[in-house]
Amino acid sequence: PPEPDVAAFDDADVAALLPRPATETDKYRRGVVGVVAGSERYPGAAVLAVGGALRGGAGAVRYVGPAADAVISRYPETLVSAGPPHRAGRVQAWVVGPGLGTGPGPERTVAEVLDSDVPVLVDADGLARLDIEQVRARSAPTVLTPHAGEAARLLGRDRASVEAGRLAAVRELAERYGATALLKGSTTLVADATGPVVANTTGTPWLATAGSGDVLSGLIGALVAAGLRPREAAATGAHLHGRAGQEAPPPPMASTIAEALPRVWSGLL
Ligand code: AMP
Ligand code: MG
Repeated sequence: PPEPDVAAFDDADVAALLPRPATETDKYRRGVVGVVAGSERYPGAAVLAVGGALRGGAGAVRYVGPAADAVISRYPETLVSAGPPHRAGRVQAWVVGPGLGTGPGPERTVAEVLDSDVPVLVDADGLARLDIEQVRARSAPTVLTPHAGEAARLLGRDRASVEAGRLAAVRELAERYGATALLKGSTTLVADATGPVVANTTGTPWLATAGSGDVLSGLIGALVAAGLRPREAAATGAHLHGRAGQEAPPPPMASTIAEALPRVWSGLL
């Protein structure tokens, strides 16, 4: 039997949470996602995170970073801006980190985004030099989406100890950072300060492919921008992402996971 402090999240839970545009809505009310991702070395991560946000139902996606040409050529729907994140215009949720690279530039960019008063999801390279005090002091919610290696670094221990106690690790992350934590892996777990840990029930090992996590971060960002609470957004995103991996023709690659999302939505709406 499942542990009592672990909750499952099924199709019905997700279907009830999926944002459905109201008759009188507009793109701003549907949610604007700001994506800060990509670098000269990893432009594709920006494309995949933007794709996840668009296929997550964002009303609009703003991209900030050096991969604007790659993003626009794949997704002409994207609004790109050349300046720093705080000049990008209205955003309801930020996604920061995929393919950013490391070093002082990306580190400053992550700090700038965390300085905002809207929800922020931090993934990948954004997790590499997170200032825990800055995260704890934020007025708006923060969502952290590490895999086991990234979680180990955030907790200051080794990967094996995270793998050996994933439930404790995801709880500790949420507690220490004052954030919603989503620990990726063959079973993805979501924790926040209150309530049971959510264990995702969808997915396939085919999801272990480059860029897969970048799609997930954009997808969750869109759900946060649409107004879902961070815990629900993270659990819903993991569920949809897992289903998309199951429905994409094998072997899926990250782009086809994003492009399988509409079929998953159709089955749930
Ligand atoms: P990342 O490590 O950031 O590329 O993200 C990988 C994505 O694939 C996450 O959503 C993981 O939960 C998922 N994933 C990785 N390995 C597996 C696995 N063995 N079974 C199911 N899902 C996986
Ligand atoms: Mg990743």
